[in-house]
Amino acid sequence: MTVRVRFAPSPTGYLHIGSARTALFNYLYARHVGGKFLLRVEDTDLARSTEESIRSILDGLAWLELGHDEEIVFQSDNADKHRATAKKLLAEGKAYRDFTPKAAQSDANVKDAIKDRARANQGEKNMRDNPYRSLSAEEGDARAAAGEPFAIRLKVAETGKSSFEDGVYGLQERDYAETEDLVLLRSDGHPLYNLAVVCDDIEMQISHVIRGQDHLTNTHKQVLIYEALGIIPPTFAHLPLIMAPNKGKLSKRKHGEVVSMTTYRDAGFLAAAFRNFLALLGWSAGEEKEIYTLAELVEKFSLDGIHRSNAIFNFTENDPRRWTDDKAQWMNAEYIRTMPLDELLPFVRPELKAAKLYRDEYEDDDKAWFENTINLIRQRFFTLKDFSNQGRAYFSEDYDFDPAAIEKNLAKFPDLRSWLPELAERFEVMDSFTEPEIEEVVKAFTEEKGTKLGIIMNGARTLLTGVAVGPSMLSVFETLGKDRSILRLRSQIAWNV
Ligand code: GLU
Repeated sequence: MTVRVRFAPSPTGYLHIGSARTALFNYLYARHVGGKFLLRVEDTDLARSTEESIRSILDGLAWLELGHDEEIVFQSDNADKHRATAKKLLAEGKAYRDFTPKAAQSDANVKDAIKDRARANQGEKNMRDNPYRSLSAEEGDARAAAGEPFAIRLKVAETGKSSFEDGVYGLQERDYAETEDLVLLRSDGHPLYNLAVVCDDIEMQISHVIRGQDHLTNTHKQVLIYEALGIIPPTFAHLPLIMAPNKGKLSKRKHGEVVSMTTYRDAGFLAAAFRNFLALLGWSAGEEKEIYTLAELVEKFSLDGIHRSNAIFNFTENDPRRWTDDKAQWMNAEYIRTMPLDELLPFVRPELKAAKLYRDEYEDDDKAWFENTINLIRQRFFTLKDFSNQGRAYFSEDYDFDPAAIEKNLAKFPDLRSWLPELAERFEVMDSFTEPEIEEVVKAFTEEKGTKLGIIMNGARTLLTGVAVGPSMLSVFETLGKDRSILRLRSQIAWNV
């Protein structure tokens, strides 16, 4: 059997973390078994579906490099087939016309009507007491022919249960009595979600439906539709939910930017790192390892490795410094620090260009300098943005001074105000400006002043880079070079802010 899976987003908003993870797991499963990964845009809610949302979802998938096979299917294109299926079930007596005016309007009203009837029946909730269930075919045909509006409902059997073997959660059962006679087609001819999904999954020959656990109830309803159609359902595998740190639901409305994929792209996350992070939200290969290339994820991925317990997305609300999951940040830093430099550079260049910190020389005369510098500063960076923010002093003479760094490394040591320009004099007479030579000069200078090396180095770091932390100061001197180091040691700007 060929494995065919699909990612089926509803284009009613941007691509959020939960959907991106669903797409990724489908992709990994398909690639692992050599199957197909299809994309279906579930745009049947015409009022809420937007072009912009479709764009954002496709952009998000492209960013994560989750390429799909075959043409994108738009669910709304299949509405006629959905209607035909509902009519077929009606003709076979597996569905019935519901002429209840309320039913013709909305499902919620029907649930209320059922509740009202249940109340009248002393609390006995009976999902099968819709009076139209037993309407004769002749009467139904006659009323329909007379133009009376009706919805089409599935005629769920009185007794028995729907069941399926979930690829993650095992055997799932649900008494028919717990499921209402679901609406397949609204009175305005609009096919409803569960019917559309089943029809499309059949049409697309989907073998495995991998989606969020929040769809479990729908799956039971869909199994009923498959039974009515006499078609064996695909294998279902439900994914654990991704929860907020307080174990509450993650919601687009409440957690807005935190759950949107564009947030991470725009904040300087590498797609490879974020994809790696997403893969571990609810799945593991049963080993300590945490850094996986896409090829490794494809190789290791299996439904068995999917967890049953919910995953937590660990952002801290209202704290801009810790606005996203620590692990996501750690992982991004790990990628920035360790990935082959020539793979990182294509991401760094546009970042520097956007901040007007990039010069063409970085590709010819200053190529070696540029690459060494990126290699040096990336060691402590978390996102691509850091190259243009914290890294600014390497590419521009116009950089800011962190007041805390000034306070800690300069203000407390007033002697540095004359010492650092004096150190510049020592640099001035150096013929060659490499780490060992710089070290010798700075050490001698420190001893002469009877102070500590750290005081000189931290002060110099603040003047030269504007911040309190960074790579070894000897490398910073060498990287910035003699002239720029001297200029900055002499500069009084930081002392006057
Ligand atoms: N369109 C549904 C959603 O975005 C997914 C349906 C499915 O995967 O079956 O939640």
